[in-house]
Amino acid sequence: MSGFVIDLPESPSVAVAATQERFPVRRVFCVGRNYAAHAREMGNDPDREPPFFFTKPADAVVDSGAEIPYPPLTSNLHHEIELVVAIGKGGFRIGRDVALEHVWGYAVGIDLTRRDLQDEAKATRRPWDWSKGFDRSAPCGPLVRAEAWHKPTHGRIWLAVNGETRQDADLSELIWPVADIVAICSEGVELRPGDLIFTGTPAGVGPLQAGDRVAGGIDGLGEIELSIGQPKTGRAVGA
Ligand code: MN
Repeated sequence: MSGFVIDLPESPSVAVAATQERFPVRRVFCVGRNYAAHAREMGNDPDREPPFFFTKPADAVVDSGAEIPYPPLTSNLHHEIELVVAIGKGGFRIGRDVALEHVWGYAVGIDLTRRDLQDEAKATRRPWDWSKGFDRSAPCGPLVRAEAWHKPTHGRIWLAVNGETRQDADLSELIWPVADIVAICSEGVELRPGDLIFTGTPAGVGPLQAGDRVAGGIDGLGEIELSIGQPKTGRAVGA
């Protein structure tokens, strides 16, 4: 009937604040090293590098409130709290001056990272995919429409684990502000409606354990909550 040989996969989506409607997710881009103090804590010089991007699968998105099983292949799962930008109007080589007009809304997200696999990938000059793009690696809180928030230039961004603050910074510390990130990302790919951009994390990243409760937020924008569950065990065959 549909012309497809298996059932069409469900479209990944994220919640929209204060409504039952959802924002469909097309792709997930992420920025590396966009706060100076985090670049330093990872052993890099924040002054020298233009932003670079990596990706996660669209279906790595998970709503706030989820329990995420501790993922496989790692013993060093890290949290990275980030401002997420949702693209509502596509474009190629978008100008910095109009870049924010392409943004549908903003949310608080967490770039979950298998840090041990990332360290190994860096050391062996292999891709980051396995360390960044695993199942449920892109938790994202409800999107707030761009018009309903101030320009994404300032605001406290924080993350706490079991009530203890681990990351605490301000969006004004972004090395590359949101308009630059959208513009620069659109030089490498043609951005399309539904694309998300995770804009990088401030200092204070650290490990998560099964049983942890994670909360994070950005002032005036919203919050995200997660719990980390036990690893999945056994052999499962998906539908
Ligand atoms: Mn990140």
